[in-house]
Amino acid sequence: MSDYSMEIIPKPEEGTAAVLKFNKKGKFAIIKGNGSDNYLCGACGNIICQNVNRGQIINLVFVCPNCDSYNFLKGT
Ligand SMILES: [Zn+2]
Repeated sequence: MSDYSMEIIPKPEEGTAAVLKFNKKGKFAIIKGNGSDNYLCGACGNIICQNVNRGQIINLVFVCPNCDSYNFLKGT
């Protein structure tokens, strides 16, 4: 089990990136899987991707439901 902090980026231009955003607010994981790695918000430490495998998710931007930061998951 490893934890990775994601990179905080400015809000991407409309249409330039795949952005996952939830209306629900709070500390929770947007994606839960059966892997062995966690991806954390680079700003507040909220676990955004829980139990995923490194490389499973690439080039996605997650809006942290806890602090609204844009987290870039490069995935490699
Ligand atoms: Zn956050």
